Amino acid sequence: MSTILDNDKEYIWHPFTPLKGMPDPLPIVKAEGAYLYTESGQKILDAVSSWWVNLHGHAHPNIVKAIAEQAATLEHVIFAGFTHKPATELAKKLVSIFPEGIKKVFYSDNGSTSVEVALKMAIQYWFNKGIEKKRIIAFEGAYHGDTFGSMSVGDRSVFSMPFQPYLFEVTFLPFPTIDNREEVINLLSQTLEKGDVAACIYEPLVQGASGMRIYPQEILDEVIHLAKQHQALCIADEVMTGFGRTGKLFASEYLSLPPDIICVSKGITGGFLPLGVTACSVEIIHAFDTADTLKTFYHGHSYTANPIACAAALASFDLLVSEETQSKIQEIADSHRNWAETVKNHPKVVKVECLGTILVIEINTGEGSSYFSEIRTKIYPYFLSKNILLRPLGNTIYCMPPYCITKEELNTIYSEINAFLATLH
Ligand SMILES: *Cc1c(COP(=O)(O)O)cnc(C)c1O
Repeated sequence: MSTILDNDKEYIWHPFTPLKGMPDPLPIVKAEGAYLYTESGQKILDAVSSWWVNLHGHAHPNIVKAIAEQAATLEHVIFAGFTHKPATELAKKLVSIFPEGIKKVFYSDNGSTSVEVALKMAIQYWFNKGIEKKRIIAFEGAYHGDTFGSMSVGDRSVFSMPFQPYLFEVTFLPFPTIDNREEVINLLSQTLEKGDVAACIYEPLVQGASGMRIYPQEILDEVIHLAKQHQALCIADEVMTGFGRTGKLFASEYLSLPPDIICVSKGITGGFLPLGVTACSVEIIHAFDTADTLKTFYHGHSYTANPIACAAALASFDLLVSEETQSKIQEIADSHRNWAETVKNHPKVVKVECLGTILVIEINTGEGSSYFSEIRTKIYPYFLSKNILLRPLGNTIYCMPPYCITKEELNTIYSEINAFLATLH
């Protein structure tokens, strides 16, 4: 056994992984472009962008250089009472591409903290205004992170079961489909009419962790419209959907009304360093725009606005908005759509859907869909043995590649999925 694996077994506790009964993790020694390299020399195509964080490929030289230069200039400084160019430049650039009306940026460390900040901002907004609004609305099946606030607004499942008694109360709307529009809208209206709704949080157009579930834009549009009519704040959790994943810079661009608060993280640094951003409208700022220390937003992290992470994000930003990346995103989207057409009638495919660079295939296992579906334990090793990293969510295979992926590499993924489907009977 390798030293990495030895030490791993002895000292490491991995995320979302039982401590027993799992195959050994693969030691990775290098990554470049769309590929990961294992210690034993296997070259694996990263078709899930390493948990949805990588945008431009691994070890992209522009981001590498930006990080190295920043580390040698200013690696970190306390962000209360001090400021710096990487943070200010990045905030300005982000505001230039964020949905309409989003004007101010609050930094934190990851997706979960960006959601915590959003919830706290929304709750304190009403507190500062002296208006009694406490209720939060979220969707069944939602995933917003693993800290207590973000767990509270997430789906109540086995993942949060031990913590259930500690999670705050939330009103959940059913996951929207074309068939339950009326039910969703009625429940929402009834809830909003109580007049106590502080905020409504949603993953725009696709719920990530609960199975890459894409849902109709029309219903979300209606939800946001109604929420705004009743002065409930709208929080778009774009931690996964941000930075081009859905074919537009932000999924909120597909909707007719912008959110009041937007959360981004994952792709923000191109997948190099952890960084979270919660950005909000002028309306929210107004409620905090006072010297009154009882109305200050008391939240922060040791590494808030870390200059190296901000520098990585700036380099990633320039790559993202380049013509080349923008056309690559469209190319991937077209390619996904074309292939989806070819498998939609496959007897082992329940459903195949795409949204921009996200491709989702639900496999018919004859046992319905579940994260703990048996087939999951087949899919993952199958594709690894074909040198492709596809980490299924239950019986759902999804592909969410870095934007540097080539047509040939995409075709390799598609043909291996076809081959896998052929093994099912
Ligand atoms: C991953 C994710 C989060 C949590 O982000 P972390 O960086 O893992 O804490 C929150 N919301 C959504 C939609 C996500 O996909």
